[in-house]
Amino acid sequence: MENKPIARTLRLLSQLMELHEVNPFKVKSIANAAFKVDKLPFRIAEKSFDELEKIDGVGKSVAAKIHELVQTGTMAELQDLLAATPEGVVEMMRIKGIGAKKVATIWREMGIETVGELYYACNENRLIEAKGFGLKTQEEIRKAIEFNMASHGKFLYAQVEQQCCDLQEQIRGTFSGALIEFGGEFRRMCEIITELVIILGSRDQAVAQNTFLESDFIKNMQLDGHKVTGELENGLKVAVYCVEKRDFWEELFIRTGNDEHVAAVTALIDEGIDQPENEELIYIKAGLQFIKPELREGDAYIEKAKKNELPQLISYNDLKGTLHNHSTWSDGVNTVEEMALYCRDELKLEYLGMCDHSKSAFYAKGLSIERVLQQQEEIDHLNKKLDGFHIFKGIESDILNDGSLDYPDEILQRFDFIVASVHANLKMSEEKATERLIRAIENPYTTILGHPTGRLLLSRTGYSIDYKKVIDACAANNVIIEVNANPLRLDLDWRWHQYALEKGVWLSINPDAHRNEGFKDMLYGVIAGRKGGLYKERCLNALSLQEIKTVFDSKRSAVSK
Ligand SMILES: [Zn+2]
Ligand SMILES: [Zn+2]
Repeated sequence: MENKPIARTLRLLSQLMELHEVNPFKVKSIANAAFKVDKLPFRIAEKSFDELEKIDGVGKSVAAKIHELVQTGTMAELQDLLAATPEGVVEMMRIKGIGAKKVATIWREMGIETVGELYYACNENRLIEAKGFGLKTQEEIRKAIEFNMASHGKFLYAQVEQQCCDLQEQIRGTFSGALIEFGGEFRRMCEIITELVIILGSRDQAVAQNTFLESDFIKNMQLDGHKVTGELENGLKVAVYCVEKRDFWEELFIRTGNDEHVAAVTALIDEGIDQPENEELIYIKAGLQFIKPELREGDAYIEKAKKNELPQLISYNDLKGTLHNHSTWSDGVNTVEEMALYCRDELKLEYLGMCDHSKSAFYAKGLSIERVLQQQEEIDHLNKKLDGFHIFKGIESDILNDGSLDYPDEILQRFDFIVASVHANLKMSEEKATERLIRAIENPYTTILGHPTGRLLLSRTGYSIDYKKVIDACAANNVIIEVNANPLRLDLDWRWHQYALEKGVWLSINPDAHRNEGFKDMLYGVIAGRKGGLYKERCLNALSLQEIKTVFDSKRSAVSK
């Protein structure tokens, strides 16, 4: 065993001891020993117990631990501490810049148990007010987590969108007259990007390749056939396929759809693709309607494309309002009025739905009954003032353990609409989670099911649910399903949109904004919706103010019957 892993193990032990409030002197002696061991000029594993004990800064008790580690590969004390600490909390310890004291606050006081939840909390400004934290610490933690995510080679679409577009612009600037497009996951607008693919069609493939290799567009460049590989500054892998101009469209087609899609389309072409002048011609040759890049996952849309029945995908401009948003009444940053004015004047929307947290969400300053009534009074007052714009009184009601909502009926009936979401006790079996959601869906006051699985992309898988049962229950109870547009969530997953639409369920693209800048996340929700084949006629917030009022009214009158 080398010194480095021994030092690392001792460091982890000292951090866990600190987290669990073991005697500070003991913690310090282990931390010091870890530091020393790392710097020693000889292999410590080869020393006898007596020799270990005599090393300056090690001493008897630490020597015994090192001895145990070298002999058995671990330490009993470390194993005990690991067993008493959630895995995600241990993972937090490995992130640079978060010491044991901060991890203790995050875990014990904020109830955060995974790195993903911590990242989400940073994005929702939840760390600012905690003791010993502040805006600066929050930003440092957020950056460190992003760095950590990058080391796994996976990125959120929203996280790398700007860098990808910048790189394409740079390439366009150098290769004027060349054909340049994104391919792969980025062109398909996947929620997670593992490799950025770019197709470069020029008059002379070899010259283009050499020019590229001599540039400093990307790091660690290598030539592999007609592909130049490398990576961006943040670690995202890049592959640039260099071809002659006449081969560009075929290459673009092959490098865009996933393998199944490309194979399914190619199988329909008899005489070969044969250097087409654009991508549409490939689909025409296959006897298909043109399939947009975001739908090129598997063979899902081939049959529809044969019959000319592809959906007219939703676009951002189809959205008329925004539902599910948080203000200063709970854990948001802007007031209701600021949000309303922003939606009316900047985003040109017709309505805003407020959904602050309900009373069980104490960590997010969820609203007591008294505060619900006060907020509704404020909204009534604002609605009188705001000309041609409407604020709907909603709530994001926690779905409690048994599936019930968070207020008594006489309060629930005061809202225009209710988003029901799970926020606590996420560790459930699939059966339990499905039952819990279905009970909430069957509650006559539930209008929208919020972020159905609680997942946080790249960091928390969310509880498993029986999607079909949940969606069927929504269909039976006239409940709309949210497509939470936060780039970390994108939940309901687009892979289930088609099933929901086929069952007659409506979807709603909700930003879950906690500040005015958060509304722009609706763009990512629209992308998810497009990948799922969503069209405006089945998207709740593509309805005009008058239309959506009718929907909310009819749901409410159904309750009173
Ligand atoms: Zn929520
Ligand atoms: Zn929310």
